[in-house]
Amino acid sequence: MLIDGHGRKVDYLRISLTERCNFRCQYCMPEKPFSWVPRENLLSFEDLFKFVRAAIDLGITKIRLTGGEPTLRADLDRFIKMICDYKSDIDLAMTTNGYLLAGIAKDLKAAGLKRINVSLDSLRPETAQRIAGKDVLENVIAGIEVALDAGLKVKVNMVPLKGVNDDEIVDVLEWCKERGIQVRFIEYMENVHAHSDLKGMHGREILERIKERYTIQKIGRQGSSPAFLYRLEDGYTFGLIDPHKHDFCESCNRIRLTAEGYLIPCLYFDEAMSIKEAVQAGDIDKAVEILKEVLANKPKENRWSEETSEASSRAFYETGG
Ligand code: SAM
Repeated sequence: MLIDGHGRKVDYLRISLTERCNFRCQYCMPEKPFSWVPRENLLSFEDLFKFVRAAIDLGITKIRLTGGEPTLRADLDRFIKMICDYKSDIDLAMTTNGYLLAGIAKDLKAAGLKRINVSLDSLRPETAQRIAGKDVLENVIAGIEVALDAGLKVKVNMVPLKGVNDDEIVDVLEWCKERGIQVRFIEYMENVHAHSDLKGMHGREILERIKERYTIQKIGRQGSSPAFLYRLEDGYTFGLIDPHKHDFCESCNRIRLTAEGYLIPCLYFDEAMSIKEAVQAGDIDKAVEILKEVLANKPKENRWSEETSEASSRAFYETGG
């Protein structure tokens, strides 16, 4: 079992497969052009798998593939199959922007993927384009439909932004409700890579918008999930992820691995240690030693706060959110 320095059990590994993305979402990517890490710096699926296998042996029961955009890694189904062949009951999920999903959802499901979260910030083509930096909506919706047909469990993530898509909170909720998809509204997390003029919405403001149309009832958090769940009168449930409160840090069960091999203990902070050399040399004991050191130093909580809106210097496209 993996336990961090604050006594929290860690059983959830999030792997960012690449920092590259085919979107340029305003809340995640800088306005100015920047260069990607060269492909040869990324860990191969074989090297990633060496670490994954050791992490599973140590008690990791849930893995999420993310990015950047994970579907940009060629032969993604091969990596999924490597993990599922090793542990068939692993809870394996992926977070994606959905743009390429229609073409690969069936293969990913066949390889063993169980669940996906798709980012859907707007149902208006021009707003989706404004946020993502290109015309994306048609592909994303097609991706969600094919994924549902393929039998993947789908959730939708939306980041409401003032003056951009905040008038679509109820529309996105209803679109998801009609399809039996759970939507999770995520508070914008301030970070130095995002466009500087963005204003996020606090969880209570998001709930107020929904309350204008619906009566909602609190359910609570399930397990270590960061989402606080709410129920509408007709039984539909949606989630709210509000990192500006710190009440989910105390049950944080996550560790993040980047495509370059850095283990990151908290989404907010810059600290990281590399397992790249160790796994490339086949020294898994060393990689496990590094993992334990990172967990021993995992911060107690992030530093986003309702009062100060501190900005993190960590890039979401690198850590995978
Ligand atoms: N490309 C994939 C996608 O779009 O879902 C996976 C990576 S993305 C970094 C993972 C999640 O992080 C998405 O749901 C995205 O909305 C969320 N995210 C990125 N930057 C964020 C920010 N500044 N605040 C809140 N959520 C953010």
